[in-house]
Amino acid sequence: MDRRYLVKEMFGPTLQGEGAHAGRPCVFLRFAACNLECPGCDTDFSPEGAVRYTAPEIVARLVELDAHRARMVVVTGGEPTLQYDAPLADALHAAGFRVHMESNGTRAPQGKVDWLTVSPKPQYHPSGLLLASDVAPNELKVVIDDHTDASTLARYEAQYPCEHYFAQAWMDDHYREHLAKAIALVQERPRWRLSVQMHKVIGVP
Ligand code: SF4
Repeated sequence: MDRRYLVKEMFGPTLQGEGAHAGRPCVFLRFAACNLECPGCDTDFSPEGAVRYTAPEIVARLVELDAHRARMVVVTGGEPTLQYDAPLADALHAAGFRVHMESNGTRAPQGKVDWLTVSPKPQYHPSGLLLASDVAPNELKVVIDDHTDASTLARYEAQYPCEHYFAQAWMDDHYREHLAKAIALVQERPRWRLSVQMHKVIGVP
């Protein structure tokens, strides 16, 4: 029997709001469930209201949503690597989609991904859960909060050799302080760029 994936939502057409591909038209596939419980997480990935779909059902819905044939899907969660696998990857690619994934870096994707964003949050890992050593992101997006400083960014540069490094202020009650810190860090380390959640500024989902 075909595997059924627990999907929180699929939506589009919209724009990618973050990272090197910010502003690109796309559709979104959001899986339910995450293996972290980061304080201040602003994403609803709970199983309540989520629906189980087969890979062909997911692809059919994404094709329907992708009204302008951008054929780029952002696969996110929650933590998408908990469910994403080779059959779903193959089905998406067969329909012409370029797959972008946003992961917390605790697991390597189990299917082909065309663009991998890792946003590590080891400060919020339960004890015993480590960042995966076999993950090779295209871009790194580090949330700037009270736990991150210049040494954190230097450590990530060494751990993840990749093309794009982004610092993004954590959106909690201290966002303004985190933003000022992120700007200062980027000015000190020119390999890094400030990432702003553009979709929230322009009001798209
Ligand atoms: S890893 Fe991301 S989705 Fe999961 S709890 Fe943390 S911020 Fe939320």
